[in-house]
Amino acid sequence: MGWSREFIEKVREATDLTDVAGDYGDTKNAGPGKVKMNCPLPNHSEKTPSHYVQKEFFKCFGCGEGGDIFKFIETVENCDFNESVKRLAGRAGIVPGPDDWIGGSGGEDKRKDLFVALEMASVIYKARLPDRENKEAQQARNFLRDRAPHRARDQALGEMCEENGIGYSFPRGPGLSNGLTKELTQQLAEYFKKTDIKEAEIPKKIQNTLERAGLASEFQGNLTDFFFSERIMFTIFDSSDRPIAFSGRQLPGGRDPKYRNSPETEIYKKNEILYGLNWSKKHVAKEDRIIICEGQLDVIAFRESSLPVAVAPCGTSITENQVKKLARYTNNFILCFDSDNAGQKAANRFVQWEEKYNLQIKVALLPEGTDPGDYLAQDNLDELVEKVEEAIPFLRWRIDRILEEEKTETIEERVNAANQSLQIIRDHPEEMYWDDYVRYIGQCLSHEYSELRKKFDKMGKTPERKPFQPIQPDTNSGTPQVLIEQKKPKPLNKETKQSTILALHVLSLVLHNRQTLEQGKLLPNKLHSMFFPTSPLSKVFEALIASQNLNEAENLLKDGEEEERIFLELRESTPDNLIDVESASKQIGELLVRRVKNELNQVHKAAKESGNLEPIRGLGDVHNAQNAVQDDGYNVFSPEADFLIEWLRERLEK
Ligand SMILES: [Zn+2]
Repeated sequence: MGWSREFIEKVREATDLTDVAGDYGDTKNAGPGKVKMNCPLPNHSEKTPSHYVQKEFFKCFGCGEGGDIFKFIETVENCDFNESVKRLAGRAGIVPGPDDWIGGSGGEDKRKDLFVALEMASVIYKARLPDRENKEAQQARNFLRDRAPHRARDQALGEMCEENGIGYSFPRGPGLSNGLTKELTQQLAEYFKKTDIKEAEIPKKIQNTLERAGLASEFQGNLTDFFFSERIMFTIFDSSDRPIAFSGRQLPGGRDPKYRNSPETEIYKKNEILYGLNWSKKHVAKEDRIIICEGQLDVIAFRESSLPVAVAPCGTSITENQVKKLARYTNNFILCFDSDNAGQKAANRFVQWEEKYNLQIKVALLPEGTDPGDYLAQDNLDELVEKVEEAIPFLRWRIDRILEEEKTETIEERVNAANQSLQIIRDHPEEMYWDDYVRYIGQCLSHEYSELRKKFDKMGKTPERKPFQPIQPDTNSGTPQVLIEQKKPKPLNKETKQSTILALHVLSLVLHNRQTLEQGKLLPNKLHSMFFPTSPLSKVFEALIASQNLNEAENLLKDGEEEERIFLELRESTPDNLIDVESASKQIGELLVRRVKNELNQVHKAAKESGNLEPIRGLGDVHNAQNAVQDDGYNVFSPEADFLIEWLRERLEK
């Protein structure tokens, strides 16, 4: 028995071995992203540190041992591989789902066939590009030759495409349109023949594999690869260098959109994958910084430069999941976006993550209308690297934007620009920078520093927008003030307030993300109406479960003022696009633990008041289970959580 390959990789990505090593002894800085320490391995002791650790690997120059994060734990803890995965998962706060523990010897991936098919597709696309017999690909070759002049000879071009996983897809048309499917079907048939799948089942297995891999789909009764037509194909890799999807770029004058990406699949999650991370992560430890840019060719430009640490989101704007992932490698981000509006917007999105992930952000300034890919085309990569070295701090960049965009001719306009910039500074988490930037604004706008500083000191932080507020009576409804006073519910204590907010979040998940909950086996087994802190919340949950949409649910619960308010909140809630099973399961686990805590308090209170301490006895197990679930990152899939659910049920049925 063992963990799935997917789970193992997840743990690997979430773990920073330099941090883990700190659990086993004093670590000293040994360069960017590196620490050294006295060897913590049981068979080696030393007085001067020769044991070096990076994010994913360790090497002891004293005893010669070395390996990855799991090997490290296996050796220092004297445990087996599965145990080391479990421990590191626990340390990283990763809760295994029901599908993460699989049979066999472990390390197997039930999606192995998908990776095989995608690897085959990548090879086929790649072979089509440099094939000189292939006239259709000529335009693609010309395009790439223009983009990479230093590699321009045909053989060199072939090398570049091989190294970076670049290929070509045939134009769509009868016969050729399913060219990829045809070749893939033959190759997969050979592959499945060597497995223990019955011959008769192979055609079905192939279709299923191609569909799941996002490589083909049924179109007018035929299996066909209609996703890409006449495009330059960039292979998208996961962080273990396995092809998982493609991004097809249009040829000059080709059909829109400019980029078309594979559909999302089990192994290609658009809001998690970063193009180029598989290459960059090998250099990030040394560089201790990462460049975020917009397109595949931008990433490849950096990959060919002396600063090969760039990544890009794939066909979406960058998400918090991606930022979180990158922040595990380094906190030093350099944004290298187009200087157009979209690029500026993309950069501004990072404001929300700066403090949360403790990011040190800089912005590289490229001349208007150029992107990193252009430097590759002009064979001028050294200048690109220079631009990155000259990147300016994010805060300074944001202030400059305001001063550029706002008019500053009249006094009023200058005051307005000053106010906006001062607010940005005030919202910045690092107090150390405040004064310098207030001075900077003074210089730029010819304002007296002391006046600006006075104004700045009176400013407060921009209030954060919370997605849910505890329910308050509506003061804008025209109801006479007296009535509101009477209707005002008694003030909620902090615990209840938090439980209510959490419960509303979970209800919003049930409303917007039910599929995720069902796929993650959270519904119907792990979430019950008894988890909710009040009866109206439970009722709304039951109504949602019994309905297809919000209106239907509302109709089920005709009366009830409190219920109405909850529906109002839900109506205003927006789907959480970043939700995944893991975070949903945490929220549900926390709701359960809070509910149990509340029940326990009531038992204790009743016992105290009545003087009958009998009911408290035997609650030790409940306390233990509650603590265990909480310590386990609110893992709702644990046996302890099952125990709590059973206990609640019995108690509430009484
Ligand atoms: Zn050693």
